[in-house]
Amino acid sequence: MSTLIPHWRAGARWPGTTPEPERYADVHDPATGQVSGRVALASGAEVDAVVADAVAAGREWAETSLSRRTSVLFAFREVLVRRREEVAAAITAEHGKVLDDALGEVQRGLEVAEFACGAPHLLKGGFSEGVSSGVDVYSIRQALGVVAVISPFNFPAMVPLWFVPVAIACGNAVVLKPSEKDPSTSLLLAEIWAEAGLPDGVFNVVQGDKVAVDSLLTHRDVKAVSFVGSTPVARYVYETGTAHGKRVQALGGAKNHMVVLPDADLEAAADAAVSAGFGSAGERCMAISALVCVDPVADRLVPLIAERMAGLVTGDGRRGSDMGPLVTATHRDKVASYVDAGAEAGASVVVDGRGVQPDGAEGGFWLGPTMLDHVETSMSVYTDEIFGPVLSVLRVPSYDAALDLVNANPYGNGTAIFTHDGGAARRFQHEVEVGMVGVNVPIPVPMAYYSFGGWKSSLFGDSHAHGTEGIHFFTRGKVVTSRWPTPDLPRPGIDLGFPQHR
Ligand code: NAD
Repeated sequence: MSTLIPHWRAGARWPGTTPEPERYADVHDPATGQVSGRVALASGAEVDAVVADAVAAGREWAETSLSRRTSVLFAFREVLVRRREEVAAAITAEHGKVLDDALGEVQRGLEVAEFACGAPHLLKGGFSEGVSSGVDVYSIRQALGVVAVISPFNFPAMVPLWFVPVAIACGNAVVLKPSEKDPSTSLLLAEIWAEAGLPDGVFNVVQGDKVAVDSLLTHRDVKAVSFVGSTPVARYVYETGTAHGKRVQALGGAKNHMVVLPDADLEAAADAAVSAGFGSAGERCMAISALVCVDPVADRLVPLIAERMAGLVTGDGRRGSDMGPLVTATHRDKVASYVDAGAEAGASVVVDGRGVQPDGAEGGFWLGPTMLDHVETSMSVYTDEIFGPVLSVLRVPSYDAALDLVNANPYGNGTAIFTHDGGAARRFQHEVEVGMVGVNVPIPVPMAYYSFGGWKSSLFGDSHAHGTEGIHFFTRGKVVTSRWPTPDLPRPGIDLGFPQHR
């Protein structure tokens, strides 16, 4: 029988190997297709038990000094650095992305932990002395209590780390509900928090599906929810969470465009399109999915990209391949069906990954890098977020047509423009309705000290992840107006009106 992947409660795996969970889901190694584990799916009662622990632990954690909290953050950073390869191996084993890329994911998460080490500076309030006779006003930011983080399959380490270190540094307790497709990384993160000296109950994991998510969204003691996943679920999480009085940031799906102007360095643009289109098998929320070529760029750029794609090795992420498998067989079949639909609708399949010969086991969930040219905005391969290694080339006559195309798309996560014209780039960054913009940079993921987030159907709520917006999301402001009597200060006396004197 395959290994059980349990929850994390009170500083330990819960339950251990027994008793058996009432509900569970199979977890696969996508490079072999074999079942590698069974993840417990929490019931509402199990979620309640974990949240109750978190409430108690969170109260004490919020009262713990900033210096002590910060020292745990520094220790977490050190332990994560030491165990980064173990975390990366766990990611590759259940997600399928190649090891190098998994290490890169850990690095990006680590950067948020480093950012959170500086939380005392960011939690400083303001102070105004003498706003009136003997009266001072000051502001403070306080922890919310228990916050939930609900994460997607595609970044099992980085996405939880966008939120968890910041929430904990701000004095909250966290319940993480990771994706049931690659749940093991969450337990390694929990071990690392424990090793760093975080008190039991401040970081918790409930494994599960919609049942666990709904329990968190409606739980009286969960004060905020940070969600990342597909747009329909993000919308649902936002609406349900806010209807239950919670603060919610729900990051949704994406369809990212890379615009190439005729004056761009086409060799560099071809490199960028390949890296950003096929890294992590296109299962990145910032992957480039639509390549918008302003005439006459496509005739020269498409062959340059095809040439590079011919050199990519698809295979087991542990064997030094360029690109791994897709996360599940169902997802692989769905992505391949979009290629079929695009071809049927009249797009030309320039590079076809459907018959790829992988460097990996026969049962793996393989789909090779694929490029479709002459894609139209009405085709499903363009309208839908397909989340796989498929690059669609759209041809447009002008910069204005490219901008209109990008802005007409309902998603607004990331975009990039490739050009040598600084004026055009500046116009684009101003006019495009997208949250993260790259200029000759295909995947413009902000550093941890900026905030990450899209626009339109890519984000519900008004706070982006990490950076100062993260600190703001995980705390609430309080303003104190204070007056201490001193012998030389006259008593204000009775006055039923608002004061008029200054
Ligand atoms: P998903 O929406 O299927 O799942 C995300 C989380 O929601 C998981 O924890 C899952 O268990 C839970 N969930 C799924 N269905 C649910 C339902 N009906 N009710 C309640 N909870 C539910 O997403 P995924 O397939 O795991 O991840 C890929 C998606 O995430 C893509 O759309 C991608 O663009 C998006 N994503 C976005 C960002 C971003 O920053 N905007 C980052 C990473 C991934």
